[in-house]
Amino acid sequence: MTGIYIHVPFCARKCPYCDFYSVPYRKVTAELYVQAVIRNLNHYRNFDSVDSIYFGGGTPSLLSAKQISDILETCSKNFKLDSTPEITLEYNPSRADFQYLYDLRTAGIKRLSIGTQSFSDSQLKLLGRTHTAEQNLQTVRNAEKAGFHNISCDLMLALPYQTEEVLSETLEILTSLPIQHVSAYLLQIEENTPFYTNPEILDNLPDDDSSVDRYLQTVSTLENAGFYQYEVSSFAKPGFESQHNLRYWYCQDYLGIGAGAHSCIQNRRFSVPEDVQLFCKNQIQQEITISETACDPEEKLMLAFRTSRGVPESSLSQNARKKLPMLIKNDYIKLKENNCIALTPKGFAVSNAVIAALLDI
Ligand code: SF4
Repeated sequence: MTGIYIHVPFCARKCPYCDFYSVPYRKVTAELYVQAVIRNLNHYRNFDSVDSIYFGGGTPSLLSAKQISDILETCSKNFKLDSTPEITLEYNPSRADFQYLYDLRTAGIKRLSIGTQSFSDSQLKLLGRTHTAEQNLQTVRNAEKAGFHNISCDLMLALPYQTEEVLSETLEILTSLPIQHVSAYLLQIEENTPFYTNPEILDNLPDDDSSVDRYLQTVSTLENAGFYQYEVSSFAKPGFESQHNLRYWYCQDYLGIGAGAHSCIQNRRFSVPEDVQLFCKNQIQQEITISETACDPEEKLMLAFRTSRGVPESSLSQNARKKLPMLIKNDYIKLKENNCIALTPKGFAVSNAVIAALLDI
């Protein structure tokens, strides 16, 4: 069983904090790109059964519903789809219109991951997003009206001027919406982005303690609203965990299609060059091998520690096991009934440090 990831590297405008590969949207290029995606889906056909398809970006919602439908039809023609595959599309709320959402639903999209980020207009403006808080609300409401009952919203934390009160207002709105999943990310300042040299941003970033406080505020508000934390950044109502993203954390296979997409198939990891023109020109995408050996046990443990499932205590080294009582006492980790060790919310907030301590990195 595998998942298919389709990368759509077009954006209407570059957000000043984003270092993902993307190019400005052009209608003609997008059509050539969709044709290239379809050629590749025909090429990889039948290689495994598929239980999840994920359109990520970039901004997949810049494609037309017909283009999405053509891609999905090619998937069903070429792959044995699970009886209830999870089919997700990342959605930019600048486009809140009901008809488009309805057409996506008809095309076969079952789950939306909406890039809401915040429900404060001043925070959205600061982030250089092209949508308002009202458009966020409109998108979620129209998505529900269009028949989506598996909706995720993105939330950004550790933002300049994001006080407890500012975040609390956003969380209050978020938890009142008909959504089933939240992905909450801490803002990272990446080199080669405008934020990296923007004094207003740099001078007003929260310190580490405030970032942890905002994270824990988010965890407890979401938990009180029925969203349980199943991964460091992911919260879901029971039964609405992202099956596709769980593949990454559980080291399961996925096939990536598109410029800049990554794949891991039977322990072989490869990527496609970040070059839209080249992807459109090539008959079949170029695969650049990253590694041909299975993830080493340490890598697997690191990924597993990101999830609330945690790792079996027996898989830890003697040295790591000696550190457990202290980490449990300080509420960074917990021992679960099945003898698995998992991070607590406080541990997730500083997960890199806790995992490094446990893996002797
Ligand atoms: S819309 Fe998403 S992918 Fe595009 S620039 Fe903004 S954050 Fe990056």
